[in-house]
Amino acid sequence: MEAMPEPLPAPATGRDAAERFVADRLTGLYSDEVAGSESFSGGQGAADAALAGFNVAGYASSRSEVWPSPRQGASRLSPYIRHGLLTLPQVWSHVGDKPSRDVTQFRDELRWQEYARHWYARLGTVTRHSLRHEPVGSTSVTLNQEMACIDLCTEELESDGWLVNQARMWMASHWTVREKGRWQDGEQYFFTHLLDGSRAANRLGWQWTTGAGSSKQYGFSRWQVEKRAPGLCGQCELSPACPVEHWPEFDDLPKVEPHPLLRRTYDITAEAGPAAPHRRKTPDVVWLTAESMALHDPALAANPDLPVVFVFDEPLLSSLQLSAKRLVFLVETLAGIAEQREVRLYRDRPRVLLAGHTPAVTFAPVPGFARIAHSLSLGEVHPFPWLSRPTGGSVASFSAWRKGLGV
Ligand SMILES: Cc1cc2nc3c(=O)[nH]c(=O)nc-3n(C[C@H](O)[C@H](O)[C@H](O)COP(=O)(O)OP(=O)(O)OC[C@H]3O[C@@H](n4cnc5c(N)ncnc54)[C@H](O)[C@@H]3O)c2cc1C
Repeated sequence: MEAMPEPLPAPATGRDAAERFVADRLTGLYSDEVAGSESFSGGQGAADAALAGFNVAGYASSRSEVWPSPRQGASRLSPYIRHGLLTLPQVWSHVGDKPSRDVTQFRDELRWQEYARHWYARLGTVTRHSLRHEPVGSTSVTLNQEMACIDLCTEELESDGWLVNQARMWMASHWTVREKGRWQDGEQYFFTHLLDGSRAANRLGWQWTTGAGSSKQYGFSRWQVEKRAPGLCGQCELSPACPVEHWPEFDDLPKVEPHPLLRRTYDITAEAGPAAPHRRKTPDVVWLTAESMALHDPALAANPDLPVVFVFDEPLLSSLQLSAKRLVFLVETLAGIAEQREVRLYRDRPRVLLAGHTPAVTFAPVPGFARIAHSLSLGEVHPFPWLSRPTGGSVASFSAWRKGLGV
């Protein structure tokens, strides 16, 4: 193997060590003070414990509850699903085969995640643009923190890096429908903080809620707060003159010409990746990406004796300026792997660092992976753990996509 530069010193496990690593080694790559999420830790152990602790009973009726937190019935698995610590097939089978309303609803949500992945694998950076309608949008939005509902969501997003789906819809609707902000700026605000932040699900969520990518806009008003966060309005100073007392007025949104990729694929292999491990050359390292950071990552498992390389992509991260809690989550995960494998961490450009090597890697259905992978001489590419492998049909809507796949 060609010599690699000296890696960063591997972090020890635990929150303090991860925060120190981010503060000392990743300066300039994040936007706020260094502090991990108040509610989630990274790592395979944390992911496995979250899945083991999740009981689907009661999910259908409590998934959308927002406040107080003991009422929330959402699974809270998303940060682990996002980074491949839990795969969708694994989470799907966790809830068993006994049919129930809870199992059906939960599996439908998993299918939304899979849909988001197919949608983004197909459309890539096209998803930066509104796909069906163009909501009116100015750039600057100041959320009114005197509203207890907005304050609650902002606080949870910025300190935990997570929100229940219902709260995300409130925020996205409020940002766009009432405050007339650009949905893309709201999406970036979420992406900065969400531990599960992915361009796939986040952009789909924003496009769907704001009407940019769906048939209508989602409305947010006091009614939902009273239903999903009972008692919160009683703590709100603005309650007597609630700014969201009534249903919002919806703009008549101009239509956008549908992108041809919504209906059919041009390159199914580029979208879905290999169906079986594809060996081109003998690999000399395992390249771990943020899409697949499990101890059971297929490329990692297939090459138990090779060093594992993870690159903090310097130009990308310095332009994204994510919240430090996202980086702390990744470092906690990497520190866990380093307990079992030789892990080499770098702050560099992946395509420069891995040039001259023949990495084994697990395919990731995102444009960033494709860009880097094309410039490298990959040794082995392992299949992405799809719930349903893409087949090239329509991704124009969730129902059209399901119909195309026959699921
Ligand atoms: C504006 C907006 C932004 C969003 N941004 C993201 C994001 O960046 N990353 C992300 O993973 N999800 C995103 N979602 C989807 C959803 O809100 C989260 O997946 C969910 O709240 C995560 O919490 P949970 O794990 O408890 O989910 P649960 O409700 O318990 O669902 C289980 C799993 O199903 C998947 N899922 C559930 N709902 C959706 C959905 N609507 N779209 C896609 N997958 C879903 C997730 O993987 C989730 O972990 C967004 C939704 C909206 C409306």
